[in-house]
Amino acid sequence: MEMKSRWFETVLIMFCAGVVFGVIFAGCYSEPPMPGKVYEKPYQSEAVKIAWTNQFPDTPSEIHWVEGDELDPTCVPQPTWRNHNGDCVDGMTTPYGMSIAWDSTMVYSRSAMAHEFAHREEFLITNDLDENHIGFLFKSSYIQDTNKLLSEVGL
Ligand SMILES: [Zn+2]
Repeated sequence: MEMKSRWFETVLIMFCAGVVFGVIFAGCYSEPPMPGKVYEKPYQSEAVKIAWTNQFPDTPSEIHWVEGDELDPTCVPQPTWRNHNGDCVDGMTTPYGMSIAWDSTMVYSRSAMAHEFAHREEFLITNDLDENHIGFLFKSSYIQDTNKLLSEVGL
């Protein structure tokens, strides 16, 4: 009886440890590779300063710029890449980062930057990426206002 209960305890502890390690492991290593490359584009800091306004308590994540061969020319009219579902995507935000499509004709005000910043900001505040675009920033005029401000200064 004593042995059986210890055995059960051991199995239970191992199972729990497995779950805990599994969760930690997933948390540490499930970071998916983001499309694109992180680097500083010309006028990026100016554009980010305009788009990431004072009401936002944190900083935006690094931006992976998706360009060149990573873009799918059959996706129109915006430069986009195809996600694992085969959908044309011009921007993506995950808990781990942000990717934005960019070709030679692109400017910040037409890019997905403000849209992805809205996802990022809602995530920082609510811990929800708001994939359905129903959160407070998507209900507000933040994206339109930001793109207008960017456009007014030629970015
Ligand atoms: Zn979105």
